[in-house]
Amino acid sequence: MTAALYALRAGKSALIIEKNAFGGQITWSPKVENFPTIESISGTELADRLMEQAMNQGAEMELDEVKSIELDGDIKRVTTEFGAQFEAKAVIIATGAKPRMLGIDRENELVGAGVCFCAVCDGAFYKGRPVAVNGGGNSALQDAMLLSETCSRVYLIHRRDSFRGEAKLVEALSAKENVEFVLNSSITALIGEDELTGISVTDNTGASRDIAVDGLFVAIGHAPDNGIFSELIELDKGGYADSGEDCLTKTAGIFVAGDCRKKTVRQLTTAAADGSAAALAACTYIDSL
Ligand code: NAP
Repeated sequence: MTAALYALRAGKSALIIEKNAFGGQITWSPKVENFPTIESISGTELADRLMEQAMNQGAEMELDEVKSIELDGDIKRVTTEFGAQFEAKAVIIATGAKPRMLGIDRENELVGAGVCFCAVCDGAFYKGRPVAVNGGGNSALQDAMLLSETCSRVYLIHRRDSFRGEAKLVEALSAKENVEFVLNSSITALIGEDELTGISVTDNTGASRDIAVDGLFVAIGHAPDNGIFSELIELDKGGYADSGEDCLTKTAGIFVAGDCRKKTVRQLTTAAADGSAAALAACTYIDSL
């Protein structure tokens, strides 16, 4: 959406195609408190504000999934799941990343039956019940914080003894009576027939314990979703677009921005920075045609 904003202000037209929620991953964040000039805001409100800002500048929006991008001379033809085709001189790929899965038995079949990836979306279902959160980054810490407000108990399971996420969040969680840290531990099994009723956790010494929970919120990071663009952009070993700060790709007129790109810091600020860089590069490209 930042890319669209910059492109529009440079006098171009811009269409944003989104398959899920405008704003992407940030709509899952209950509270954003590290975006410059905004003390505290929910991820959905921040996304709504940016969407309104882009629309007020003239952005067009489509809720659909891109299935392919074909080159036809200088024109890029974008085909979507619903069969629509759009033509553009430049395309900015900003597909973000999707939640990583644990890769343990029965995880797939219990998705939606206890295994969740979004505390903001699904946390309310577990009001008054015990849940576990797995992960040690800001997503896991934020999920644990949100769930601790309504769930009877929150087990925060992390594979190491220290967290990757912000110290302030760790401190706040440590002070919560209904939050228990289960460190140096991994989830090794999911318990329950049709619905999750518990998890088996194994620590670094090999000792296991079962914990009764109704919900498990997996927050162990994200993986990119760039596969369908692999002929147009170079991907690194992890599947991220192998592009630098300039957001250029090996294909003239195709740019990448945000978490889908190889980078060290994946934050709102860096995603927005990429959006502006990619849009201005796209405008320069279009003007050169
Ligand atoms: P992340 O920072 O990459 O953290 C992923 C966590 O999951 C790490 O603690 C990692 O453990 C653990 N992990 C990875 N694979 C695992 C596996 N197979 N089994 C068990 N644990 C595993 O991911 P994130 O928390 O989703 O955050 C992504 C980015 O978004 C970060 O830069 C974060 O700061 C940012 N973010 C920002 C906000 C905000 O600004 N409001 C909110 C949420 C997220 P290790 O620590 O051992 O590697």
